[in-house]
Amino acid sequence: MSEQEADRTHVLKGKKILLGVCGSIAAYKSAYLVRALVKAGAELKIVMTPSACQFISPLTLSTLGKNEVLTGLATESSWNNHVELGLWADVFLVAPLTAQSMSSMATGACNNLLLAVYLSAKCPVMLAPAMDLDMWKHPATQNNLTKIKDYGHLVIPVGVGDLASGLQGPGRMAEPEEILGFLSDFFSINLSLKDKKILVTAGPTREYIDPVRFISNGSSGKMGWALVEELLKKGAEVILLAGPASIFDDKSHARLQIYRVESAEEMASLAIKFYPSCAAAIFAAAVGDFSPTIVADEKIKKVPGLNTVNLELSKNVDIAATLGEMKRGNQVNIGFALETQNELENARQKVNTKNFNFIVLNSLREEGAGFGFSTNKVTFVFPEGQVRPLALQTKNSVALEIIKELENQMGND
Ligand code: C5P
Repeated sequence: MSEQEADRTHVLKGKKILLGVCGSIAAYKSAYLVRALVKAGAELKIVMTPSACQFISPLTLSTLGKNEVLTGLATESSWNNHVELGLWADVFLVAPLTAQSMSSMATGACNNLLLAVYLSAKCPVMLAPAMDLDMWKHPATQNNLTKIKDYGHLVIPVGVGDLASGLQGPGRMAEPEEILGFLSDFFSINLSLKDKKILVTAGPTREYIDPVRFISNGSSGKMGWALVEELLKKGAEVILLAGPASIFDDKSHARLQIYRVESAEEMASLAIKFYPSCAAAIFAAAVGDFSPTIVADEKIKKVPGLNTVNLELSKNVDIAATLGEMKRGNQVNIGFALETQNELENARQKVNTKNFNFIVLNSLREEGAGFGFSTNKVTFVFPEGQVRPLALQTKNSVALEIIKELENQMGND
């Protein structure tokens, strides 16, 4: 373990980790994981499914884990108390999680100790799936994945690369160091936004005209990602609704759930679903205001003589305004405005019509501000009309200023 890793994993010292191991070839990596967890000072209890024992021996894991490994609901003379195991743990980590066990978790099936522990666990659950490419991509697996995420579990993204089948693609269990990183991030919570769930929309949206063409904008998602990074550092749990921008590819964190969306409509339906459980929402997405009324089923052809095409656009749902109407007294909503004229006047209007606690006004006229830049120059505009201009600074320090004001607003209620 490098010095940097050791520094990050010090939070695992004394943490009670219940590790579940399912029957996948990736179970060999569980041995490395167990060794690293013990080295980081964690206290371990291990539960294996019967089929996991065909891939790696309980003796290997109990030796490395310095504790007994449980494989069945009962031994000859005693019963393994699955309720107590779940109560003991600070976190229940299942690595690897097979397609079979994921399916059982999604439906509540229970035919082994690991699943009984899962169903009775009161602690947070973290899952590291491992399976073959086609199993991973199958709609049944993807549906199960959505279900277990909806139960509030943290799913550690699968890796992409060589698979035991000889195929290449997504499905590899995350590497032990990566899992350790997730656990460390999960426990590094000393922080002012601990236990606060925050919804963030970020990036552009795409409104399709036909199967290959769309209307979009140049949002890079950088401001949204800077906000997410700073929120995570303060211990918040973040639900990020991310439009199509490459900055969001391969991003992962133990307290981050990313949903990739394309259209304003997709973003809206997830925002409406998650908002009620959130303490705040930050609308950093550059959401398309209009979308084609009719989306052509086939690519629109150039036909000789056809020199103009009329595109009828319909207004999209305004996500921020919709959530503004849903807002309860103690929720905080923060919007962004990118204006090219009458900036202050428009921002003052929007902060009220959309029921924001404040709006972050960017001006495209400012050098170094707006789409694609790593710096930003913004002004906060409040409902009563007060303004607070900020100096040009990196998007991460703008994010910190926004979060400071967010916390201020939370405290005001
Ligand atoms: O596009 P507009 O200037 O109205 O955007 C102001 C705020 O409203 C931004 O925070 C943006 O993310 C949000 N918005 C939205 N849904 C829309 C349009 C804008 O959430 N359809």
